[in-house]
Amino acid sequence: MITSNDMPLASKPLNRAAHRRTDETWLDAAFQRDDVLVFLMQNGSPLMEGQASPPLSAGARVAPNPRGLVWLGADAARFANGAKRIFMGEDKRGTPIFALCVPEQFTLAGTLLEGAGEFEDMRAAAAALSALEANLVSTARSISEWHRGHGFCARCGSRSEITEAGWKRVCPACEAEHFPRTDPVAIMLPIKGDQCLLGRSAGWPDGFYSCLAGFVEPGETVEQAACREVEEEAGVICQPESVDYLFCQPWPFPSSLMVGLHMVADTMEIEIDPKEIEDARWFSRDEVVAMIAGEHPDAYCPPPFAIAHHVMKAWVEA
Ligand SMILES: [Zn+2]
Repeated sequence: MITSNDMPLASKPLNRAAHRRTDETWLDAAFQRDDVLVFLMQNGSPLMEGQASPPLSAGARVAPNPRGLVWLGADAARFANGAKRIFMGEDKRGTPIFALCVPEQFTLAGTLLEGAGEFEDMRAAAAALSALEANLVSTARSISEWHRGHGFCARCGSRSEITEAGWKRVCPACEAEHFPRTDPVAIMLPIKGDQCLLGRSAGWPDGFYSCLAGFVEPGETVEQAACREVEEEAGVICQPESVDYLFCQPWPFPSSLMVGLHMVADTMEIEIDPKEIEDARWFSRDEVVAMIAGEHPDAYCPPPFAIAHHVMKAWVEA
């Protein structure tokens, strides 16, 4: 049985060594160590070897070729000016790993990194990187995007400051503490006998179908959110008691935690909300098998780096 640890973007996490985050002296020394490992991010995109692939759409059919991050050692200090430094953790040997989020105006031209690679669209990067590197850039992206959008204290409006190696902001005026957000999203497969319900958003490529999904609202359980979303988007009724949790996946667009679910549908009549989705449709088990294999005549589904792929696969393999 596949678990959350097997999910792309969640795989093989580092030791985050959170106790180091408050130790500025250790962090400064670690950043200059001979064995330090540093990767660069700009606007939520990682610096990868070779030429950047074109941005990957939500319904991309072809995964980019496997590629790696551009890794820097102590040389990374040259790029620290104006950049945000995030301590990612330590690998098994105790090697410190940092992400350096360079400012928008930064350019590789004229630096020692000229020609080493390009900043890559995150979706393409997520599909091309190894499990560990994908997890690192996914984490760094969620945090750096949070910093970009939360420069000011939500309580008093003063400019807040980064602390704890990038994992927290504090407001110097009112002392409020702010932490990176993680927003739970239910992503679910309603099942009725031998059929399951999939939907598509407007703007997705023709034939691309995926699991319905929606944010968990305040005061709701994940199970209740899943039922509410299925009813709102497709008019299909499910009961929270029928919901089974499968696995979850961090999803850095910008900071979701996708919670994968199976659930039993009580009804089959579809009435879509056109403000939310463009179409919803029941697919048989054989059709889903064909979609996953890329052999369905007119429908296809998300690639393996998205949790929806695994939610569908877990059903056909059950
Ligand atoms: Zn404040």
